[in-house]
Amino acid sequence: MAWDFSTDPEFQEQLDWVARFCREEVEPLELIFPYAVRMRRHDPHMRALVDPLQDQIKARGLWAIFLDEELGGPGFGQLKLALVNEILGRYGSAPAIFGCQAPDTGNMEILAAYGTEEQKERWLVPLMNQELWSAYSMTEPQGGSDPNLFVTTAVRDGGEWVINGEKWFTSAGRHADIIFVMCTNGIFIVPRDAPGVEIMDEPRHHDHIRYNEVRVPLDHLLGPEDGARVLAQRRLGGGRIHHAMRAIAQCRRAFDMMCERALSRQSHGKLIAEHQMVQEAVADSYAEINMLRLLVLWTAWTIDNSSTAEARTQIAACKYTAAKVLRDVAYRAIHIFGSLGVTDLTPLQALWNGAPAMSVMDGVDEVHKVTVARNVLKGYTPHEGFWPSDYLPSMRERARDKFAPLFAADPDLEKYADAMQRRASGRG
Ligand SMILES: Cc1cc2nc3c(=O)[nH]c(=O)nc-3n(C[C@H](O)[C@H](O)[C@H](O)COP(=O)(O)OP(=O)(O)OC[C@H]3O[C@@H](n4cnc5c(N)ncnc54)[C@H](O)[C@@H]3O)c2cc1C
Repeated sequence: MAWDFSTDPEFQEQLDWVARFCREEVEPLELIFPYAVRMRRHDPHMRALVDPLQDQIKARGLWAIFLDEELGGPGFGQLKLALVNEILGRYGSAPAIFGCQAPDTGNMEILAAYGTEEQKERWLVPLMNQELWSAYSMTEPQGGSDPNLFVTTAVRDGGEWVINGEKWFTSAGRHADIIFVMCTNGIFIVPRDAPGVEIMDEPRHHDHIRYNEVRVPLDHLLGPEDGARVLAQRRLGGGRIHHAMRAIAQCRRAFDMMCERALSRQSHGKLIAEHQMVQEAVADSYAEINMLRLLVLWTAWTIDNSSTAEARTQIAACKYTAAKVLRDVAYRAIHIFGSLGVTDLTPLQALWNGAPAMSVMDGVDEVHKVTVARNVLKGYTPHEGFWPSDYLPSMRERARDKFAPLFAADPDLEKYADAMQRRASGRG
């Protein structure tokens, strides 16, 4: 019997260590030095704080856990990764401290899968060591959901590619060393300081970038020419499930806060937690978080036992379910916190803000719902005639055919069956 919801004791030890490490080391660091990991490269103070923590993570084999063994990581697979990510997701800086931060993870994944040995040496190794930071430029100002609208193109000119186009919402673009730019004819790795890369002042965290006659050598094309969509799918498929894993942690954080608060405040002569509508919020949130968690773990297990492509429908379902559960649980927690919930004195507003972002990034929910519906409907066929397959009179007729030989041999049994039918339908 293969169904099993338990965790190997050795791996549970690792998870316990991760939870303790995040609580005791990561959280205090991010509260006092929020950008410590990114600043580490140029700031000896930050390096002195971050490096010893990362050394401990590496010593436990928990560095860059998203990468398979053949791609240079520990080869945990998605299920174990999900169990780690549902801890890391609670802390904004934990993914970076553990070397598995977006958007670098997705970029490393396609570099590892499609890069030449020379490209891996030049970019993958430094990205893994956080000696380089990267960004991903796909969305364009005229529309992000439909890749047919993208127009950024690279044209070959002798020994170089010349890129022209405009990208929108490139997360952390201005802080990146290299940007993976999706053109209509391939994905190109562009140094952020290459002449012609123009970063607009706004927005600040997700950048609007113009690529004006940007020239890169021929070997900056990643994967095959015209392979942009295949690489993008590979990149985003992994990203979506990783976001969903971390969303479980965010939902749990809001839930833990909600429960603690409900047990700590009085109103109308009793604890808030004793009011039935508050109990409903707790009960619904508990069930929804566990439904999300099981969906995500089942999807991770499916990827481990087949492939990301095979699990496409499940990944799409995780993507919009994570956003919905985070939205609903964070909203209930804010509501139960009352006035304090609408301030920025707790993490609740940030958790709540994460929900609409999660609904839009990596493809809007609607597109994923279409994917799920289309794929699910492939397993069905239309019924013949007027009535559905589960039309009870037709089902009874078919069932009766099965008993026909018995009824022929024993007419009393047939009468008995008729009487039972009449009684069951209230007509006998
Ligand atoms: C936090 C965050 C980080 C991001 N980081 C990056 C990044 O690093 N790199 C990058 O390239 N992009 C990034 N994006 C951009 C993201 O990929 C796009 O926002 C997304 O693909 C949607 O594109 P859009 O914003 O142009 O919305 P649109 O495509 O204009 O869609 C707007 C709305 O139209 C409706 N809609 C669109 N298509 C359909 C449809 N087929 N069916 C039904 N309704 C539809 C939906 O309601 C949708 O929300 C990020 C976005 C967010 C929120």
